[in-house]
Amino acid sequence: MAKLCKAGQQLREQIDDDYPERDRTSDGWIGDTRHSARKSDHNPDPKSGIVRALDIDADLGAHREEAYALVEKIRKCAKRGDKRIKYIIFGGKIMSPILNWKRRPYKGINPHRHHFHVTFILPLSYRHPTHIPPHHLYHIATPFK
Ligand SMILES: [Zn+2]
Repeated sequence: MAKLCKAGQQLREQIDDDYPERDRTSDGWIGDTRHSARKSDHNPDPKSGIVRALDIDADLGAHREEAYALVEKIRKCAKRGDKRIKYIIFGGKIMSPILNWKRRPYKGINPHRHHFHVTFILPLSYRHPTHIPPHHLYHIATPFK
């Protein structure tokens, strides 16, 4: 059974709490058939069924700039040392540990203007779900600040 990783669930819950009226049309987590034909973070891990990528619609039901501000918040959280975030893509830019989370041009086919994409890093234990130490569960359920 496929499911979104804990960190993804946590982030989505926080965003839902902050923007209850947001548009969810471009939301997504599990890959469609087009995704599964190629390598994508939206494809479930074959062993655990865990998906480690989340898409959030850029229309937060607020001012248009709000999506940029939210992505900026997530980027800063990662830069400050939250180890759960692997990279973020939004508005033709990618942000990752490369160049210390600086916004760099994203050259993929989809520039991600209608949604932003977050790929999470799964704790090692996540990849072996039979033994998840409790402190990891705690860690992944910690709010993103
Ligand atoms: Zn995506």
